[in-house]
Amino acid sequence: MNIAIVGAGIFGLAHAWAAAKRGHRVTVLERSARASGASIRNFGMVWPIGQPAGQWHEVALRSRQAWLEVAEQAGIWAQPCGSIHLAHRPDEWQVLQEFAGMAPALGFECELLGPQQVQARTPAANPQGLLGGLYSPSEVCVNPPATIRVLPGWLHEKYGVDFRFNTAVTSVSGQHVTTADSSASQGSLPFDRCLVCSGSDLKTLFPEVYQAAGLRLCKLQMLRTATHPNGWRIGTHLASGLTLGHYSCFEHCPSLTTLRARIAAETPELDQYGIHVMASQNDAGQVILGDSHEYDSEIEPFDKQIIDELILRELRRIIDLPEWSIEQRWHGYYCKYSKGPVLAAEPSDTVSIRTGAGGSGMTMSFGLAERDWEQWS
Ligand SMILES: Cc1cc2nc3c(=O)[nH]c(=O)nc-3n(C[C@H](O)[C@H](O)[C@H](O)COP(=O)(O)OP(=O)(O)OC[C@H]3O[C@@H](n4cnc5c(N)ncnc54)[C@H](O)[C@@H]3O)c2cc1C
Repeated sequence: MNIAIVGAGIFGLAHAWAAAKRGHRVTVLERSARASGASIRNFGMVWPIGQPAGQWHEVALRSRQAWLEVAEQAGIWAQPCGSIHLAHRPDEWQVLQEFAGMAPALGFECELLGPQQVQARTPAANPQGLLGGLYSPSEVCVNPPATIRVLPGWLHEKYGVDFRFNTAVTSVSGQHVTTADSSASQGSLPFDRCLVCSGSDLKTLFPEVYQAAGLRLCKLQMLRTATHPNGWRIGTHLASGLTLGHYSCFEHCPSLTTLRARIAAETPELDQYGIHVMASQNDAGQVILGDSHEYDSEIEPFDKQIIDELILRELRRIIDLPEWSIEQRWHGYYCKYSKGPVLAAEPSDTVSIRTGAGGSGMTMSFGLAERDWEQWS
């Protein structure tokens, strides 16, 4: 079959991989000279621990496996580093204990660590007031900008996937994609199946589908340190007690309500900007720090210094980095579908939309693409 894919972010690339390895002829159309959306702006955390128990956690684990396979074949750095949720407050420790008690029955592999065990796994944990942590071995770290830059070349070489950059798709109708390219030969592409993986652009293609699905747009601020000296490594991905309220896997913990109420009363400024803090380290030794969440009408084009200051304040409470100088600051956008891990809409028999993975797109993309192409092949 001839497959047209709109968007060369991680969803477009994962679908190109899943389709091409099944023998389909794939063309990816990307509006920019290189993908520059959410897929290059994130932490690079492949994060199965954050997915709800059951089928979506299983898809995340499958995705993790695919990441490692693709990385090995494509020569991309991907480190199975695991993760630790750090607890510096009694209510955070309580939630972690509750989750660890339920974890085996829910299918999560994880382990509670005391303060010394935490420090044996990560030199970054701030020992001041550290009560312990929840270690999970399933998380992987990738370097998003490098990965998204390298994958198109590899997909082209290995599977003959055709990439057309600087090519904005203006409409998808019948079995033709129309592009903004003025030359007649390039302006229209026939397909047997089309995947629309256009990320947070909710205006150009199928806006009525996005509106009906109730997708929300979110803006996130991020920071990156300078390279850490002497090969210093963080050990695992790190998340804070604040993060426990963010991922749905912890929803069943009875003490989460108390934790959320304490954060709301003590630090309402964090809730105001949707701040919870995490850290990952790429292969260049730089530590990626974030993040905040501002939605829909709250979103402004300009970044807020106060958000960066709050993120750094909270991170300094839980981690101790040798290098805190900030070399880069940026923001990213994602859109979020609230009723599942991704918006899977089918405007026609031959056109499918995949977007709305929110903060889990790097984690879920390969697993979801595999599921789709098993059905379509
Ligand atoms: C700051 C931040 C941190 C995050 N951290 C993580 C994390 O650590 N782990 C995790 O799992 N997830 C994380 N996420 C979420 C994850 O990055 C996203 O879910 C994922 O990258 C979305 O991928 P995508 O392919 O749908 O969209 P995008 O990466 O935005 O790609 C869409 C592409 O489509 C192109 N496009 C759009 N419209 C058209 C058109 N009409 N014609 C041609 N091309 C078009 C765009 O130019 C773009 O390149 C984070 C997100 C952000 C913003």
